[in-house]
Amino acid sequence: MKQPLQAVRGMMDILPGEVEKWRFVEETARTLFHRFGYREIRTPLLEATELFARSIGEATDIVEKEMYTFHDAKGRSLSLRPEATASIIRAFIQHQLHTTRDRKFFLIGPMFRYERPQKGRYRQFHQIDVEAFGIQDPMLDAELMFMAVQLLQTIGIKDVSLELNTLGCPDCRPSFRSVLQGYLKERIELLCPDCVRRIDRNPLRCFDCKVPQCKQALQDAPHIVDFVCNNCANHFELVKSYLDDLGVNYVLNPAMVRGLDYYVRTAFEIVTQHLGAQNAVGGGGRYDGLIKDLGGPDLPGIGFALGVERIMLLMGDLKSDADESSRVDVFMVLLGENARRKGFLIAQKLREAGLSVELDYESKSAKSQMRLADKLGAFVSVIIGDDELKQSIAQIRFMKEGSQRICELDDLVPELLAVVKRTK
Ligand code: AMP
Repeated sequence: MKQPLQAVRGMMDILPGEVEKWRFVEETARTLFHRFGYREIRTPLLEATELFARSIGEATDIVEKEMYTFHDAKGRSLSLRPEATASIIRAFIQHQLHTTRDRKFFLIGPMFRYERPQKGRYRQFHQIDVEAFGIQDPMLDAELMFMAVQLLQTIGIKDVSLELNTLGCPDCRPSFRSVLQGYLKERIELLCPDCVRRIDRNPLRCFDCKVPQCKQALQDAPHIVDFVCNNCANHFELVKSYLDDLGVNYVLNPAMVRGLDYYVRTAFEIVTQHLGAQNAVGGGGRYDGLIKDLGGPDLPGIGFALGVERIMLLMGDLKSDADESSRVDVFMVLLGENARRKGFLIAQKLREAGLSVELDYESKSAKSQMRLADKLGAFVSVIIGDDELKQSIAQIRFMKEGSQRICELDDLVPELLAVVKRTK
C-alpha cells in the first residue's frame, strides 16, 4: 500500500469544527477593530527577501535562520512573510496611503517561520496584526494595548498579563548598548555561543536567550529604562498614566526587549501561564523610524500581533456554538426516482430561502437516509415518497421529538422557515 502523504512538519490543517472557532475569533477582532477605526488590509504571502532583512533586521533570529526563502525563475530572492508589519508598511508606501484617510490597519493571516515545532509554536501560524501610522501621541500606545486586551477578554481569555517596557530611541539607545556590551563582555565565559556573537551584533537580544546560564548571567544586567532620554521617559510616563485611566493592568518588565530590531520606546507583550514555554500570546510596540527607513514618509508607527493558534489553545474547551452552527436545518428523505427529482428542486428552493439543506445523493433506503439525517444533526427531515408526491404533500419529521406532521408541498418553504426559526 502507498504511504499516505502528511502535511508539512509544523503546518496544521484547520478542520471543520475548529474553523468555526477561528471564524468566531476573526469576526470578533474585525468588529472590535472597526470600532477603533482600523480597516482590513491583505497583502501577498510572498515578498522580496530584502523587505524583511531591512525591516526586521539582518541580525535577528527571524532573518538569520527562520525565513522560508527561495529564488524564483529569474533568480530573485523571495520569502514567505514571517510577520505582517513590513508587508503592511510596504503596501502603505507603495500605494501612498499617507495621502488618503487610511492610517490604521489590521491583517489576519498566515505567517511562516522555520522554528522547531512544539506546542504553541508552528512553522505556519496565524496572526491577528494591527498597525497604526502617523500618530506619535502616547494615547494611541495605551489605546492599542487596551484594544488587544479587550479582544482577548471578549473572546473569553482572561488569565493574561500585559508586560510593558520602554526601549528608548536612536538618541538614547546607543549609550545603553555600550554599557550592556561592557557588562556582557565581563561575563563572556558564562554566555552561550549565540549570545557571545550577539554582544557585538545585537546585545539587547541576549535578554531573550532561553539558555539558563545566560539568563543567570543577565540577572544583574543594566536595564534600558534607566538610560532613556527625557523625551522617551515622558512618553513612557504618559503611556502608563493613560493605561491607568483605562483601567488596564500591566506589569513593568525591564528585561523585555522583543525579538525585532525596529522597536523604539513602547514595547509590550501579552503573556500567559497556561502555554508552557511559548508563553506569549501577542506582542508589539512602536517603530517610529521604520516607515522612513523603508523609503516612505517620516511617520511614526506602532502595532501588535496576536498568535491565533495560541488563542485557540487558550480557548481550549470554552463553550463554542461551533457544533450548533454547523448543524443542518433540513434533511430531505427522498424515496423513489420521482420524489428524488422533485425533492432535489425543493432543496434548492429551501437553500435560496436561507436554510441549510442536505440530502442523500444516492438512492438509499429510508432507514439509512434517516440515519444520515441524525448524524448531521438535522432539525427536521422532510420525507417525500411516491404516495406523498401523488397528494402533493410531504411529511415533516421533528428529529428530536420524533413527531411528524403533514405539509402541502406548496407551503413547504414558508412552513419550514417558520419551524426552523422557532427551534433556533
Ligand atoms: P512576534 O511577531 O514574534 O512578536 O509574535 C507575535 C505573536 O505571534 C506571538 O506572541 C505568538 O502568539 C505568535 N507567534 C509567533 N511565532 C509563532 C510560531 N512560530 N507559532 C505560533 N505562534 C507564533
